[in-house]
Amino acid sequence: MAYDLTGKRVWIAGHRGMVGQALVRALQGEDCRILTVERAQLDLRDRDAVCAWMAQARPQAVIIAAAKVGGILANTSFPVDFLLDNLAIETSIMAGAHACGVEKLLFLASSAVYPRLAPQPMAEEALLTGPLEPTHEAYAIAKIAGIKLTQAFRQQYGADFIACLPTNLYGPGDRYDPAGSHVMPALIRKVHQARQEGSDVVVWGSGTPRREFLHVDDCADACLHLMRSYSGAAPVNVGSGEDISILDLTRLVMQVIGHDGAIVHDHSKPDGPPRKLMDSSRLTNLGWRPKVALAAGIADAYRAFLQANR
Ligand code: GDP
Repeated sequence: MAYDLTGKRVWIAGHRGMVGQALVRALQGEDCRILTVERAQLDLRDRDAVCAWMAQARPQAVIIAAAKVGGILANTSFPVDFLLDNLAIETSIMAGAHACGVEKLLFLASSAVYPRLAPQPMAEEALLTGPLEPTHEAYAIAKIAGIKLTQAFRQQYGADFIACLPTNLYGPGDRYDPAGSHVMPALIRKVHQARQEGSDVVVWGSGTPRREFLHVDDCADACLHLMRSYSGAAPVNVGSGEDISILDLTRLVMQVIGHDGAIVHDHSKPDGPPRKLMDSSRLTNLGWRPKVALAAGIADAYRAFLQANR
C-alpha cells in the first residue's frame, strides 16, 4: 500500500498559499521533482486548460492545496465565488489527474465541512450528519463535494485519490489583515502592535472558546505521510489533538512576543462555537505525530511576520 515519492514528479496545486508553500518546503528535502505553475499561466478553474497543462507537465502525484479561502466576512459576502471557484478547482484538477493517469492524489478539504453541532472531538464519521455552520456553508459544500469526488474516482475508476481535513493552521505565509484573518494571525499582529505602542491587547469575545491549532509545517508533513502510507476512501483528520482557550492562547502569544500588558475583552464580537477540536486518531494510528510545539510554532510564525512586515 505504501507509495514511494522518490523520483516522482509531484505537482503542488496552490503553491503560493500558506499550505502550498509549506508543502514545497517539505518536498525540497525529498528526492523528487516539484512541479508548480503560476496563476497567470494557468487558471485552475479552467478544466480544459488544466487538463492541457497536466498532459504536458505529466505529474505522477498531485496535492490539491489550491482553494479560494477567506474569513467570515468574505464567506458571507461572496458565497457564489466560494462555491463555484472551489468546485471548479477540484473538478478540473481531479478530471485532469484521471485523464493523464496520475498515480496518487491528495485533496485538502477543511474542518469547516463538519456539522455545526458535531460532537467534540470531531471524528471523520461526523461528516454529513447535520446542518453546516451557515457562515461558511458555500465553502464547506464545495469541500464536501471535493471529498466525495475523490471517493467517486476511487469507486468508479479505482483511482488512488485520498482526502484530508486540516484543522486551524498557522505559520509562515499566513494572512494578517486584521478584519479578515483568523484568531492566530490576528493575535500575532495585535500583540506585536500593542508591544510597540505599550497598549492593551484587545481580545474578541469572552476568551473562553477553545480552538485547536496546527503549525503548517506539521500539516505538510502529515500530507506527505498520507501520500506515502494511506490509501482509503475515508477522509483523514489532520490536527494536533490539543485545544487551548483563546485567553490562554493570547497569554502564550504575549509571552512569545514579549509583551506583558493587560488583556481587555471586546464583548461586541462573537465567540463562535465553544469548542472546535478534531479527533485525529485515524492519522496517529497511521504512525504520524505533530512535531512543532505551540510556543515554538508561534515564535516561528512571528519571525515570518516580522520578515514580511519589515
Ligand atoms: P472560528 O474558529 O471559526 O471561530 O474563527 P476565528 O479564528 O476567527 O475565531 C476563533 C475565536 O477567537 C473566536 O472565539 C473569536 O471571538 C476569538 N478571537 C479573539 N480575538 C480575535 C481576533 O482578533 N480575531 C479573530 N478572528 N478572532 C478572535
